[in-house]
Amino acid sequence: MNYHGSPVPENVLPEPAVLSKARASLQTNLPPDGVGSQSAQEHIRRDICPGLSASSKSSRYYGFVTGGATTAAQFADNIVTEYDQNVQVHLPKETVATDVEYHALNMLCQLIDLEPAVWTHKTFTTGATASNIMGLACGREHVLAAAAARHGREASVAQHGLIRAMRLADVDDIQILTTVPHSSIRKAASIVGLGHDSVKDCSEQGQTNLFDMAELERALIRPRTASIIMVSFSEVNTGQFATQCTQDVQALRDLADAYHAWIHVDAAFGFMARLLPESPEYETVRRCGGGLDLADSITGDGHKLLNVPYDTGFFLSRHLSYGLQVFRNPNAAYLSSAAAGIPSPLNIGIENSRRFRALPVYANLVAYGRSGYQDMLCRQVRLARIITDFLFDNEHYDVFKPRADMQKAELLSSTFMIVLFRAKSSAVNDDLVNRINGTLRIYCSGTTWGPGAGVRFAIANWKCDPERDWPVVRQVLEDVVAVDRNA
Ligand SMILES: *Cc1c(COP(=O)(O)O)cnc(C)c1O
Repeated sequence: MNYHGSPVPENVLPEPAVLSKARASLQTNLPPDGVGSQSAQEHIRRDICPGLSASSKSSRYYGFVTGGATTAAQFADNIVTEYDQNVQVHLPKETVATDVEYHALNMLCQLIDLEPAVWTHKTFTTGATASNIMGLACGREHVLAAAAARHGREASVAQHGLIRAMRLADVDDIQILTTVPHSSIRKAASIVGLGHDSVKDCSEQGQTNLFDMAELERALIRPRTASIIMVSFSEVNTGQFATQCTQDVQALRDLADAYHAWIHVDAAFGFMARLLPESPEYETVRRCGGGLDLADSITGDGHKLLNVPYDTGFFLSRHLSYGLQVFRNPNAAYLSSAAAGIPSPLNIGIENSRRFRALPVYANLVAYGRSGYQDMLCRQVRLARIITDFLFDNEHYDVFKPRADMQKAELLSSTFMIVLFRAKSSAVNDDLVNRINGTLRIYCSGTTWGPGAGVRFAIANWKCDPERDWPVVRQVLEDVVAVDRNA
């Protein structure tokens, strides 16, 4: 991925005065007559753009997990708008749009070593939250069908609704068994009618990203209860994986098969670990990417590490029949399409009318290929490790270790592209995010770390350049703790 020569703005956030000016310039009442397209464009460029963050344009925006948009993806996204295709029904005699989507999804599978033909239900979504909703909806369909089948009955939430389907299945409760779930899992649980309380923590004491397998099995055995196992495949605060190798996922698979559970993997950005080169440097994180093929369904994001514009995610499942059951438009003959091979997107996903969001993904895969993405990811991981190395044993900072006894070398080799840290002084720590972001030069997100506050870097932009970016990060980390000494 050729990131050299891509300019990076000096600041990642607008100055407060610029922000106020932009806010004050906004039209707040509908004008009876418009000012015309030309004037509207000038207003946007002159007044609004200066009030936007450089979250995508800068390689030094480390908040949330925020990718940028590569040159190829930006080009493609402008074409998406120019042609404004509604990619809902497969219309092979009219447009090649669904073919592009189909091939982009297949290449995406190839990028992460998944066999496209096995993942029969594949679609682009608006992001990982939508993909998690789909995963829970398909999982819910499966676990109730499996429970009902044991009584010689059929049950489908799509057909019968949740309450009748649960009665038909002789099930009182559907639980989501997980560790360190992203907040969107509870949101998804609410939307699909399972509720926030259905999400149950099954984590090990002392290393909360991992499953306590005995606890998990005790939960799976509960009578009149159906289960979805939700695996956090790189957690947003720490970058840690709930499974650390193929055997870990296999152990979950064995339990899921024994107790008729569904395995959904939230790999919003963690799927990229599968792309790391086979070298000792990356071995630990690469192994964490193992076993993804054993899932029933997978969530991935495009607008994070794939570095395509918002809003893009993807969903993969090995069970097209559940996908069609849940998402098809029943009784709408005009929407069905005869052509075999490429399903109409509107029958396998949440939306009917939808944006041609496959094109920027297609563009990136064609433009940069496997090695381009590999190179980008290695730069991101390298910077995360340089920062971790600096923070380890630092007189002013603590850096998160998955296990308290971890030595530096082991910590570095298990670092993906996220760094969680805090200031040793609690007075500094309480103000740390403000101090860092107040410099406008880099941007971090605040979070919690145990009972206190923490700060995290998530390095996700395609322009990441450790040689150029590390000196700026280091300067900020040194300056924000020096403030008190000079006071
Ligand atoms: C970002 C993220 C989500 C939510 O993704 P959106 O694209 O914001 O909907 C879900 N799970 C994980 C692990 C994430 O990192």
